[in-house]
Amino acid sequence: MRSREEALALDQQDPLKEFRDLFVLPPGLIYFDGNSLGALPKRTAEQVAHVVNHEWGQELIRAWNSAGWFTLPQRLGGMIAPLIGAKPSEVVVTDSTSVNLYKVLHVAMSIALENDPNRRVVLTERSNFPTDIYIAEGLCRERGFELRLVDASALREALDASVAVLVLTHVNYRTGAMFPLSDISRAAKAAGALMIWDLAHSAGAVPIDLSAADADFAVGCGYKYLNGGPGAPAFVWVHARHVDRAWQPLNGWIGHRAPFEFTPDYQPQVGINRYLAGTPPIISMAALACGLELFERLQARGGITALRQKSVALTTAFIEQVEARCPGFGLQLISPREPELRGSQVCFSHPTHSYAIMQALIARGVIGDYRKGDANTPDILRFGFAPLYNGFVEVWDAVEQLNQVLCSSEWKQPQFQQRALVT
Ligand SMILES: *Cc1c(COP(=O)(O)O)cnc(C)c1O
Repeated sequence: MRSREEALALDQQDPLKEFRDLFVLPPGLIYFDGNSLGALPKRTAEQVAHVVNHEWGQELIRAWNSAGWFTLPQRLGGMIAPLIGAKPSEVVVTDSTSVNLYKVLHVAMSIALENDPNRRVVLTERSNFPTDIYIAEGLCRERGFELRLVDASALREALDASVAVLVLTHVNYRTGAMFPLSDISRAAKAAGALMIWDLAHSAGAVPIDLSAADADFAVGCGYKYLNGGPGAPAFVWVHARHVDRAWQPLNGWIGHRAPFEFTPDYQPQVGINRYLAGTPPIISMAALACGLELFERLQARGGITALRQKSVALTTAFIEQVEARCPGFGLQLISPREPELRGSQVCFSHPTHSYAIMQALIARGVIGDYRKGDANTPDILRFGFAPLYNGFVEVWDAVEQLNQVLCSSEWKQPQFQQRALVT
C-alpha cells in the first residue's frame, strides 16, 4: 500500500466491503477499538426496540414461550459454535466471561483432583488478562491449589507433573500475540493437564477449532469482535467428555433439569445447559443476536477464513505504514511481526508518552486505546482491527493523524495528560 489511492482500491476490491454498511459508525471517526467494544450493528436498535415494545410490552410473561426467550442461551450458543469449532449443542451464552471462567476452572479442578489428587497447580501466563488471573487466584485459595504464573516463553517447561489445569487467553489483550491453540492444547494433554481457553480476543476475529485441538473447556466474550453491545453476555463450551461429569459450582435453577418442577433437590441438566445459572438477560441477548447474525451472513462471503485474510492484510498494512510514515519518534512494534503469531490487533509503544499520544489521537477522531505495561511489556498504544467494518483507507488516514500528532507534539497539551476512569 503506497498511496491513499491504492488503499481506496483495496477497499473497493474487498470481498467483505458490504458489511461496513451494516454498522452504525459516526462519520469522520476511525474506530480501531472493536477488540474492546465492538461497533453497533444497524439492526440492533430496531430489534431491541421490538423486544422491549412488542415482546416485553405486549406479550409480557407469555414471551418466555411465545417469543422463544427461554431458549435464547442455546440459540445464540449455536450461532457461536461454528466460529470456535464446536457443535451447536455444545455452547451456551450466559453470564460474563469472568463468571464462566470461574465455573469451568472449578469443574476442571474437580476433574483433575479425581484423576490425580497430587496435581495441585493451576498454570497461566503472567501477562494474561487480569480477570483470568484473579479468578484463578481466588479459586486456588478456596481449594488449596497453587497458582503458578510464568512468562509465555516458559510455559512448556512449567507444564510438569504437578499441573492440574492450564488456563490461557488465546490472543493476549495487550500485545496481540496469539498462542498456537492446537499445539498448546496437545502439550497440555501430553503433560496430563486440562486445558481452558479464554477466547475473548479471538472469537469472531481468527479461526478457532476447539474440537480439532481436543481442548477441554473454553469461554469467551460477547461484546468484543461479536458486537453484542456493552456488557453483552458471554459464552461457554465444554468438551463432551467432561460436560456431564461434574456439577458446575453455581447450580442455579435455570441449569436444573426441570426448573418448573420446583423440586428442592438439584438435578443438573444434561450437557452444556447445566452451565446456565440464573434467568437470561433477554434484552442483552437480543442485541447479541444481531451481532451474531452478521457472522451467519459472513458464511456466504468466505466465512472466518476470508475475515482472517482481511484482518492479516489490515494489521500488516498498519504496521508497514506506521513504520514507514512515523519514523524517528521512538515508536516500537510490540505485537509479533509474523502475521500467524498475532490476532487482529497491533500495538506500539512510545518510550515515555503512550497515554498522551493516544488521547491526542482520539481527539483527532482516531479511536484506539492505551494499556499500561507490565513486567514484560512497556505502556502501549493499542489498535484493534475489526475486518467486518474496518478498511484500508482508514488505515492510511489513521497513520496520517498519528504522524501529525507526533510531528506537532500536540500530545504535550495538558488535557491529554489527564487519566480517565476507563482507559
Ligand atoms: C475482555 C476480557 C474479559 C472480560 O471479562 P468480563 O467478565 O466480561 O469483564 C475476560 N478475559 C479476557 C482475556 C478479556 O480480554
